[in-house]
Amino acid sequence: MALSFYCYASFKTRLQVTAQLNHGNNKGLEKVKNLVTKTGVPSITTSPHESLQRGNWVKLICGASFEDVVDIRNLSLVYTLAGVDCIDCAADASVVSAVNEGIEAAIGIVPVRRPWVMISVNDDEDLHFRKAEFDPNDCPPDCSRPCEIVCPANAISLENTSSLVKGGVVTERCYGCGRCFPVCPYDRIRTNTYVRDATATAELLKRDDVDAVEIHTSGRRTAMFEELWNGLGDSVSYLRLVAVSNVDH
Ligand code: SF4
Ligand code: SF4
Repeated sequence: MALSFYCYASFKTRLQVTAQLNHGNNKGLEKVKNLVTKTGVPSITTSPHESLQRGNWVKLICGASFEDVVDIRNLSLVYTLAGVDCIDCAADASVVSAVNEGIEAAIGIVPVRRPWVMISVNDDEDLHFRKAEFDPNDCPPDCSRPCEIVCPANAISLENTSSLVKGGVVTERCYGCGRCFPVCPYDRIRTNTYVRDATATAELLKRDDVDAVEIHTSGRRTAMFEELWNGLGDSVSYLRLVAVSNVDH
């Protein structure tokens, strides 16, 4: 898959990386290396912690629900080169590994600063933690498939035959933005919301390649927050940062 990114790594530096970066595609990596050698990357000497304190912290948000590991690895590679302070991703072991693979690949190209890796979790229903779903067997074959057109993540892949619709939501690519819900003329698309498991999250937080957690909470149901916090146990002591974001503000 060809990816093209424009990264505004600093106010003065724009890094354009157009490359084929699939796993095992050494040609793509070579192209990135050549491009970086030609254009250079921003020299960032401050730590992510210092950026936080100065108020110029930059975070790549891969998406709390986005789980396409190939895209995540490639995004992590490019944005590490661009000098972000942090990469925020889904609380999933494969996703975390993909982020770290991207970071290591970037550092292998040029010795850039390692960004922090942050995972996002929730204590209750939250718009960031949901997926679209529908059964293509329920779709009329003559539907013009506006859901597929409106999806910004190419997360709906359909094929019409004369009598049925095949395909559906590509779950790992759906990040729950909700754009497809209102456009379905037959009201076939449902929302599948979920809460990340605290025990699995605690295991992830203990990994030495995870630096931070963002807890999404409405702040209205303290019992839910308490349950999650207790479930995380001493895993938070392994971290550099615990962020709490209140979805209502
Ligand atoms: S448009 Fe629908 S399928 Fe596409 S990412 Fe958004 S919620 Fe998921
Ligand atoms: S718009 Fe609705 S009915 Fe049409 S293909 Fe999409 S989900 Fe099915």
